Amino acid sequence: MNTRLVHLLLRTESDVFVARQRAREVAAAVGLERQDQVRLATALSEIGRTLFTDRGGPAATAAEVWFGVSAGKIQVEVVAIGPSQADQLPSLGRLVDDLTIDDGPTTTVVRMSRRIPAGGELSEARLDRIRGELAASAPRSPLDEMAEQNEQLLTALEETRAHRDELAQLNAELEETNRGVMALYNQLSGELEETNRGVVALYAELDERSAQLRAASEAKTRFLANVSHELRAPVTAVIGLARLLDDPESDPLTEDQARQVQLIRGSAADLLRLVNDLLDLAKAESGTIQPDWSDVDLRGVFSQLRGTVRAMTTGDVELVVVDPAPPAEIRTDEVLLAQVLRNLLHNGLKFTAAGEVRMAATRAGADWLIQVTDTGIGIPAELHDRIFEEFYQVPGRAPTGATGTGLGLPYARRLVTLLGGELTVASEPGAGSTFTVRLPVAGGDGTS
Ligand code: ADP
Repeated sequence: MNTRLVHLLLRTESDVFVARQRAREVAAAVGLERQDQVRLATALSEIGRTLFTDRGGPAATAAEVWFGVSAGKIQVEVVAIGPSQADQLPSLGRLVDDLTIDDGPTTTVVRMSRRIPAGGELSEARLDRIRGELAASAPRSPLDEMAEQNEQLLTALEETRAHRDELAQLNAELEETNRGVMALYNQLSGELEETNRGVVALYAELDERSAQLRAASEAKTRFLANVSHELRAPVTAVIGLARLLDDPESDPLTEDQARQVQLIRGSAADLLRLVNDLLDLAKAESGTIQPDWSDVDLRGVFSQLRGTVRAMTTGDVELVVVDPAPPAEIRTDEVLLAQVLRNLLHNGLKFTAAGEVRMAATRAGADWLIQVTDTGIGIPAELHDRIFEEFYQVPGRAPTGATGTGLGLPYARRLVTLLGGELTVASEPGAGSTFTVRLPVAGGDGTS
C-alpha cells in the first residue's frame, strides 16, 4: 500500500462497529460518494464480523486494519491473527471493486479497494491534511455507530421506497403511452387499409376506362377505314363520269354546264383526297403498317423529293434541298420517310407566300435531325400541340389558297413514331416554321 492514512486495532466483536465508522470517515475524507462510503464500511464490517464470530471453532484473536490510498483507489487491508477464516468470508463482490485474500496458517490477510471518483486527485498536502483530521477525530462508541448505522439503513430504505414509487409511476406512464401508441397504430392501419382499398378500386376503374377508351379508339379507326373504303369507289366513279362529260369527244356542253362539271370534278377530287388521307391515318392507327427496314442513303431520298416537290413551287418561293454530307446512311423505311418529308414540304409551300422552303439534315449523336424550315405565316405557340390533332386547321386560309384536310400532320407524326423517332415544331406567327424529324441512325426495329 503506497500511502497509508490511518490504522486501528480490533480485539472484540464490538470493535467492528468502530472499524465500520472509521471506514466511512476515511471514505468520506478521500472523496467517495455517500453510497460508496456505506458500501465500503459495510464490506469491512462484514469481514470483521466473520473474523470474530465463533462458529464452533476458534475465532481470530485480533486484527489490524489499515486504510490507505493508491492508484486512484481507497485501499483497506485487514490482517487477522488466528486460525484461517478465509472460507467463512461472505461474498463482497458488489460492495468493493477488488478483493484478495491471503490465507496463512496463523494470519489471514484481506485486501480490498474502491475507486475514488474522477477529479478527486489527492495531492500529498491533501493526504497530510486528511491524516491530521482523522488523527484528531476520535472513534465514537459502538452504540453511536449502531445508531448511525440504523439511520443509514432507514435512509437507504426511504430511498428504495422512493425508487419503487418512481418506478411504479414510470410503469403506469409507459402503459398509458403504450395504449396511446396502440390506439394510434390501429387508427393508422385502419386508414391505410381504407386508402389501399380506395386505390385498388381506383385502379380497377382506371383499367376499365382504358379498356373502354381502347375499344372506342379501335371502333373509330374501324369506322373511318370502312367508310373511306366504301366512299372511294363512288367518288372515283363521279370523277370519271365528270371527266367523260368534259371530254371533247362527248356532246358539247353549254358554258354554264362546263363550269358546273368543273365544280363537280374539283369537289370530287377534294373528297377523294380526304378519303385517301383518312384511309392512311386509319391504317397507321390500326397498327397494320409494318415498316420495311433497310439501309437508306438520305441523299437519294432528298434528290427524289427535290424532283417531285419542285413542281409545286411558284415563282415567289424557292425550294432549297440541301444534300447531307456523306456518309448519310440511316436504317429506316424509305417510302414512309419520303411520305413524311413530302408532307412537310407541301405544308411549307402551302403556307408560304414568298421566301423559301428549305430542307436540311444534320447528325446529332446517334440521331439524324431532318429539318423543314419555311419563311411562311407561322403558327401561334398555343396551337403547336393542336395542329397534330386530327382535322385541326389553324383558322384563316393558307396564303396560297390551297386547301387541306387537317390529317397530314397527325399522320406524319404517327409514321415518325413508327420509325422510332419524333416529330416536333418550332414556329412563330410571321416568322416562319421549322418542323424537325428526329430519327435514330440505327433505326427503330432493334436489329442493329
Ligand atoms: P392540312 O395541311 O391538310 O390542313 P395538316 O395536318 O398538314 O393539315 O396541318 C394542320 C394545320 O397546321 C394546317 O391546316 C395549318 O393551319 C397548320 N400548318 C401546318 N404546316 C404549317 C406551316 N408550315 N406553316 C404554317 N402553318 C402550318
